[in-house]
Amino acid sequence: MASSIFDEPYEVASSENDEFFGRIEAEGNIVINGVKLSDRAGQNKYALSVMEAIKDKSILLIEAGVGIGKSFGYLIPIFFTMNNVTTFKQVVISTSTMALQSQLLNDINNVSKMLGIEIKTVIAKGINNYVCFKKLDSLIVKEKDQDMRKQYKKIEQEIMKKQSVDRADLMEISNKVWQKIKAEDRGVCSKCCYSKECFYQRHLANIQKMDDDNEKFILVTNHAFLAYLLKYKSKLLKRVDSFIVDEAHEFEENVRSINEGELDLKKIGDCIGKIQRALGDRTSKGLIGKVTSLYSEILRTINGMRKKNLRYDSDKIPFNFSEGVKDSLHNVIEDFEKYINYINIKCSGNIKLMRELYVLVRELEGYLNLFSDMNLQGASRENIYWAEFCDKEHKKIKICYSPKSLDKELAPLIKRDKDTSVIFTSGTMGYDKNASEDPDDKASRVYAATKMGLDIIKLPKVQGFYDYFERGLGLKGIDRVTEFPISSPYNFNENCLLYYNPHLISPIFSPTRGIDTISNPRQYDNYIKGLVFEINRLIRLTNGKSLILFTSKEDMNRVYEAISEKYSYPFDLFIQGDNNSDKIKQEFIDNTDSVLFATGAFWEGIDVKGKSLSNLIICRLPFSNLDPILEGKASSYKSDERFKMVYYRDMMIKLNQGIGRLIRSEYDTGIVCILDSRVGKYKGRILKDLGLPCTTDFDKLEEFVYDKGIVDEPKGKSR
Ligand code: SF4
Repeated sequence: MASSIFDEPYEVASSENDEFFGRIEAEGNIVINGVKLSDRAGQNKYALSVMEAIKDKSILLIEAGVGIGKSFGYLIPIFFTMNNVTTFKQVVISTSTMALQSQLLNDINNVSKMLGIEIKTVIAKGINNYVCFKKLDSLIVKEKDQDMRKQYKKIEQEIMKKQSVDRADLMEISNKVWQKIKAEDRGVCSKCCYSKECFYQRHLANIQKMDDDNEKFILVTNHAFLAYLLKYKSKLLKRVDSFIVDEAHEFEENVRSINEGELDLKKIGDCIGKIQRALGDRTSKGLIGKVTSLYSEILRTINGMRKKNLRYDSDKIPFNFSEGVKDSLHNVIEDFEKYINYINIKCSGNIKLMRELYVLVRELEGYLNLFSDMNLQGASRENIYWAEFCDKEHKKIKICYSPKSLDKELAPLIKRDKDTSVIFTSGTMGYDKNASEDPDDKASRVYAATKMGLDIIKLPKVQGFYDYFERGLGLKGIDRVTEFPISSPYNFNENCLLYYNPHLISPIFSPTRGIDTISNPRQYDNYIKGLVFEINRLIRLTNGKSLILFTSKEDMNRVYEAISEKYSYPFDLFIQGDNNSDKIKQEFIDNTDSVLFATGAFWEGIDVKGKSLSNLIICRLPFSNLDPILEGKASSYKSDERFKMVYYRDMMIKLNQGIGRLIRSEYDTGIVCILDSRVGKYKGRILKDLGLPCTTDFDKLEEFVYDKGIVDEPKGKSR
């Protein structure tokens, strides 16, 4: 009998395991309880890798190309293990959005039915997805507006009927009403007189009870809530045997945002005010004045930069430490130290006063530590700092920070007392498709491209596919990390062609120099004209069927206006608005020959199978615009490595996400057109890393479009 992968350390019904793995190995398919689940080679490899990670209690990084069916790929081993291994009891599956959470619940139901295995599944979301009973009750009593009052009452009736306060279970609630009734985590729940009846608290208590009773269950959650549980080291996570972090490329951002802090001028002032009152002494040793002038100095610096460069209008602004800022910072640190010394002297021998001030002085020391950390040089700082405007007039500013490394924040997940498998998975985690390429896939890519007479970039397989992802989550150097990328089963080499025009005007954006055509109106006009010219001939070539992705609304609006004014087409043009994403997406899908102009979430949030999306146009390489987190990460590298190690890799992951919109099924074919002439620069690195057949020849592009039947060849055209 073949040895089972569960020989150690679990107690298992080993004959069933042998059958499970024996079947996969013998037939290349997963067969459980007589059900053949898949004949996709990639999905089998995926499921086996997950199974091995569960058995080895390792941390698995596994990118799954489009079409692998990753949720089934991890659910099957999870179900199988929970059913067969007595000690394997709790699994947390986290994904990025609420919509994906619901989709996952459907997948869990389907897998359960197929396998004939039932596992209890519960869903947990962040507190602000639930109605606060206390707020609702008080609004029903106090609200003077009769219509609003009726609405609140209706919501209350629905809550009672459905016995749920989850927004997703209730009738549609407008955002205005929602803001008033949603539960919030501000420490109020612990003192709330409704806490016993509160459905949210009861829901959490039920999950906790299942945990205390050591029941078997799967907890489905989202990254924001998992990050919250990690931050507060929730005991709910203690017994978990396996974590699956799906859409893992979004996880770092969620962990960061829950751990972001603010050096709030008002809070510092309040803290000093309370100390002054306790001491009966109005002095702050000049501290408040110095902190205020530090903020003014930062505001002055940023407004100065803003006048020179429009990029500084963005939300988060990494600030350069000008001489003025450094001086002010130095003064603030000195005064903090003086003031803390002064408090210690005033309290000496007075135990009652010392006790009274204990918490406030710790708070003050916390501010001092943060300002001292800010004063350090880039690489040695613990946090990343940036500024945000508090008003549209750019007159007020706040200082924000986030930990540079997430080691500590992720310790309850990665470095646990209880060994646990953690599976990070997503469609795009690495930046270099060649590094993940199977030798067979590579051979077929070279063959397909040669057959079509196209350029093919040959690159040796390289290590470090997940390097950027690992560094982001602080996984680098942890020995129980295993990596396994699985490329898409779809034939990109045959079905997809990348086109770029090296003669277009470059947007000249440089993350290191911060120059953009948008800063120069004439150059920007010319840049837009170039885009309009190229987009017009590309969307005519495929008779619509195009998604055009922009990196800024400004570019999108300018190009859309110019195209719709200058040309007319036998197909519809749609543009993404502020609140019409779902509607516009559906119109684009239903209207096969249409064109959609989009930005933001459309880089990854659109899944269109079939002809409606046969032409994907990417206007600008998605380099991040002025992102303090990236700048903070880059500061850990020598200046000549920063672009390659941080900005480039971040851009490539986003570019791959965008390109991933094109081929969504084995029958899809299409063209990817990148209208940023820099794509051929950087020594051809981008083209090499994308690993797609490519051309700069419009005639070859045309040939491909006709050969693949994306549109019919015009009559009389001979090639
Ligand atoms: S326990 Fe919290 S969420 Fe529930 S009613 Fe009270 S304040 Fe609102």
